[in-house]
Amino acid sequence: MTQFNAYTDKNTLQHYLELEQGDRVQVMYIWVDGTMEHLRCKTKTLDSEPQKPEDCPIWNFDGSSTGQAEGSNSDVYLYPVAMFRDPFRRGKNKLLLCETYDHNRKPHPTNKRHECKKAMIKAKDSHPWFGIEQEFTLLDQDGHPFGWPKNGFPGPQGPYYCGVGANKVYGRAIVEAHYRACLYAGLKIAGTNAEVMPGQWEYQIGPCEGIEMGDHLWIARFLMYRVAEDFGVIATLDPKPMPGDWNGAGAHTNYSTVEMRTGEGGLESINDAIENMALKHKEHIESYDPYRGESNKRRLTGRHETSSIDVFTAGVAHRGASVRIPRQVSEDGFGYLEDRRPSSNCDPYAVTDILVRTTILEKPL
Ligand code: ADP
Ligand code: MN
Ligand code: MN
Ligand code: MN
Ligand code: MN
Repeated sequence: MTQFNAYTDKNTLQHYLELEQGDRVQVMYIWVDGTMEHLRCKTKTLDSEPQKPEDCPIWNFDGSSTGQAEGSNSDVYLYPVAMFRDPFRRGKNKLLLCETYDHNRKPHPTNKRHECKKAMIKAKDSHPWFGIEQEFTLLDQDGHPFGWPKNGFPGPQGPYYCGVGANKVYGRAIVEAHYRACLYAGLKIAGTNAEVMPGQWEYQIGPCEGIEMGDHLWIARFLMYRVAEDFGVIATLDPKPMPGDWNGAGAHTNYSTVEMRTGEGGLESINDAIENMALKHKEHIESYDPYRGESNKRRLTGRHETSSIDVFTAGVAHRGASVRIPRQVSEDGFGYLEDRRPSSNCDPYAVTDILVRTTILEKPL
């Protein structure tokens, strides 16, 4: 079978990208689509370089083609909210993250940023910081994990996590390219590592304060899909791409407030947050993947370094718990907590929104 995308010679493109573009600027508008785990994008020419998102006009798209509107009333608006340098077109060209609004100028139901932003504004004095560990899997064009034998399986898990060597990791070039693209764009990428399942990788975005977490992670995901596309490889956020004895993919969310980060009473306020989170376990699970927990059912089995989806647990250095307090944090007496429940395909706006509501704005205790 011809894998057309993989066989296109993308080096040919380089010549055209070096052509002078004049004063005008290409702006790639990017938004979350109706699946709430994939992104769409389209480009607009602006007459001069925008300095901030508001310099870019509101635009629209055909929502009936993205699962976001009926064909008879299909326009969905794009409101520019965050702007980054474009590592593909480079120069003055931009990547522009947008919120979606329906024809009545109401936030679209798939627009989780709108509510998240409100919560972050209310909680701003607590200075909520987040760091999300985005796990993902590379797939060949046939949907089989990248680098795996075509008629079988690699050896059992063990040598692959943080591995090095051609028989240990698959797709490092993609991860390296993505890392540099994130730095160029101006994203707060904290690091990367190879994961437990071969062909699975992780990058961390953070620490980010407030709404910035979702903004930076969604653009990092855009770069992940886009860089992998250049290599003719598919990047997926599926939380359990291979059933059986293979690790799933999560989006561990590290979280702290200014109180948690300070010596006096830091650990106390971490434990206070955990007690409140325990009471809202079900609501959190419903916010931690786009299918109200259905995605995570495949992943949170209590095996493969996960907790059970049905019970809330917490512990120091415990990778089988819902929430882990890192060993160092417990020793220092301040720092952050790690919520291990969010699925790889979670919407970071939904995750950070409920964390701030449960632990700051609407504390049950
Ligand atoms: P793990 O040991 O679970 O693999 P990682 O090193 O992959 O952890 O990720 C830790 C993440 O926690 C990073 O993204 C980092 O930016 C973030 N982080 C560090 N300190 C804080 C903090 N005080 N509040 C929130 N996030 C933090
Ligand atoms: Mn058209
Ligand atoms: Mn990690
Ligand atoms: Mn990991
Ligand atoms: Mn982790």
